[in-house]
Amino acid sequence: MNDSTADQLLRHPCFNANARHYFGRLHLPVAAGCNIQCGYCDRKYDCPNESRPGVTSQLLTPQEAIDHVEFILKNHPTISVVGIAGPGDAFHNPAVTLEVLARIRAAHPDIILCVSTNGLNLPDYVDYLSRLRVNFVTVTINTLTPAIGTRIYDYISHHGRIVQGPEAVTILTRLQLQAISLLKRKGLRVKVNTVIIPGINDADISLTAARLADYRVDLMNLIPLIPVPGTPLADIPPPSAALVQQLRWQAGKFVPQMTHCVRCRADAVGLLNQNNTLFDLTDTQTKESFG
Ligand code: SF4
Ligand code: SF4
Repeated sequence: MNDSTADQLLRHPCFNANARHYFGRLHLPVAAGCNIQCGYCDRKYDCPNESRPGVTSQLLTPQEAIDHVEFILKNHPTISVVGIAGPGDAFHNPAVTLEVLARIRAAHPDIILCVSTNGLNLPDYVDYLSRLRVNFVTVTINTLTPAIGTRIYDYISHHGRIVQGPEAVTILTRLQLQAISLLKRKGLRVKVNTVIIPGINDADISLTAARLADYRVDLMNLIPLIPVPGTPLADIPPPSAALVQQLRWQAGKFVPQMTHCVRCRADAVGLLNQNNTLFDLTDTQTKESFG
């Protein structure tokens, strides 16, 4: 971990639970589309990996995103982190994500940059993220076991080819772990999100955590499944609070656990306990400011 990352860790409300009382995050909804299909996801909604489903986000172009960043940072000084977390996958269309991150970094050398992804396309961009000092990356890994993954993922789109079944999960998990390995070699902080899907991956989560510890993952965030109507996993009930607690305890033997995630939308802004969206805070004023 380089000095700048250590310093930034003090101000990151997700990677550092104490910081959440004083520092907020700004999510920019610029990432459209996805390169995989999770069984709990309906693309009408935000990515459930890092978002609360049920509300469709407004997508921003890179220029709109930059305009919003300027407005929010000027008017809300508690914002310490700008991140991209959906509504689809940040590296489905990497050009957009990287353009936005690069432009923010050029204008704001000290802001913390953060990105969240399923990891499939991540290995190719680790060098560039490191150069931009995007020091915090979240990868969603629901399992590392192909037989379980085939019950979670319908397909992946890899090098222009749709792949299904165990081969898809094997490719996905290989690239996720490769990306984490590269990120850690560069000194970035890595959080893994894992959606708890009762009866499918719950018994496998401590095994996942044990393997992630070998890769020096910094933090693990077990997220209870939110069943989304119309999806293949819609009939699976969310895990009980007791199961979530038990799984965190088991996984915590291997990787420190995040327990304060509030499952933000892809356009969330402010302190984690505030329920604001980017558009709540900018709507009237941006219309005036940006014409
Ligand atoms: Fe949906 Fe996110 Fe999975 Fe993509 S990675 S299918 S957007 S839940
Ligand atoms: Fe932080 Fe969780 Fe919100 Fe992501 S979804 S910004 S990890 S609180």
